[in-house]
Amino acid sequence: MANYLAMSSEELVEEQQKLRVEYQTYKNMGLNLNMDRGKPCTEQLDLSKEMLKMDNYIGEDGFDARNYGVLEGMPEARRFFAELLNADMEEVIVGGNSSLQLMYYLIDLGWRQGFVDSPRPWRHYNALKFLCPVPGYDRHFRITEYFGFQMINIPMTENGPDMDMVEALVQKDESIKGMWCVPVYSNPDGYCYSAETVRRLARMKTAAPDFKIIWDNAYVVHHLTDEQIEIPALLYECQKAGNPERPLTFCSTSKITYPGAGVAALAASERNIRYILKNMMPMIISFDKMNQLRHVQYLKNKEGVLAHMRKHRAILEPKFNLVKQTFAEQLSPCGDIAHWTDPKGGYFISLYLMEGCAKRTVQLCKDAGVTLTGAGAAYPYGLDPKDSHLRIAPTYPSLQELETASQLLTLCARLATIEVLLKNR
Ligand code: PMP
Repeated sequence: MANYLAMSSEELVEEQQKLRVEYQTYKNMGLNLNMDRGKPCTEQLDLSKEMLKMDNYIGEDGFDARNYGVLEGMPEARRFFAELLNADMEEVIVGGNSSLQLMYYLIDLGWRQGFVDSPRPWRHYNALKFLCPVPGYDRHFRITEYFGFQMINIPMTENGPDMDMVEALVQKDESIKGMWCVPVYSNPDGYCYSAETVRRLARMKTAAPDFKIIWDNAYVVHHLTDEQIEIPALLYECQKAGNPERPLTFCSTSKITYPGAGVAALAASERNIRYILKNMMPMIISFDKMNQLRHVQYLKNKEGVLAHMRKHRAILEPKFNLVKQTFAEQLSPCGDIAHWTDPKGGYFISLYLMEGCAKRTVQLCKDAGVTLTGAGAAYPYGLDPKDSHLRIAPTYPSLQELETASQLLTLCARLATIEVLLKNR
């Protein structure tokens, strides 16, 4: 292997022919592997088996969780999530099995009715815009696309979104109603917002009086190193800055216990919480409080959650290391053709290839039996302007599968790079 960028066309063609032979060997293996979505593996799901044995459904204040009632959630569950979300328990609603559903509900609420600080419902505006740090979480973008927002890409940095750009935009445009954020171990880069970013978000002047920050803390306890990164609480910073209604913050136990059968929660100012509960009333009588109690009895508190997350880390850390090591061995010697993130937590690694290489790499992998997240998926409308980003999800496959898949991935990335280099000669 040598630096592709320094190779002559003849040398590149020679390398291409070598790689094609290798690629054919993979194709002949008849692989069927999936590195598409960020899902826990079976071993991770098994970690929470004991929780299903919890069967005391009488809450701390004597309320029977098996029955209707207590829309805001069982008090012990509110206290549990208040600790995870850095909020007071009165600022918390404990919902059902999905935080994404709560986020959807709140965008819908803004659109239909507006919020406590809205001059009018969002649907009464001619233009609606939303800021989208990129790359980001595809399902966030799908929600705002569904409601007809124009989505504006904001480049991510290691310290969070480009705040100069965010401040300049929100200050002058009233139709920008909010912003998606995954502040800790972001999906997909694994970056964490700096304390300065959090404070600037809390303080910035917005033309829209009802600007909302959707603060999706999906990976708040999902550490992969001893560092256990924590960032300032947005709710508190916004309160201090005189913008208490700005943040809507979320988390869930989807990647702590069970995705699809965990518990989700949201935290916001008490005024927002009262307003949201009033508006939830026509939709639902109460969420699944039996599951709320099971979770609190099993995980107990943040300390209990962190202990549980260490078991996840033991399974996941070798997988992340294997992928990063394969990238370093197979891509670094080829020169400056790729770089990737080194997350200290979360569920993903971002791999950035040369411009124009991402789609082709995904296609080559697919043709050889390895499914990756579609190129562009981490950008609004599925459009990566540079066609360079791939979201790598190392959690679900076994170590052995992951080894094969990441070897093939780097091979395909090198083939795609050579094609682009030759085309541009
Ligand atoms: N937010 C982010 C950033 C995620 O990555 C995910 C899961 N992939 C979710 C939310 C979904 O969470 P839930 O299962 O609570 O709906």
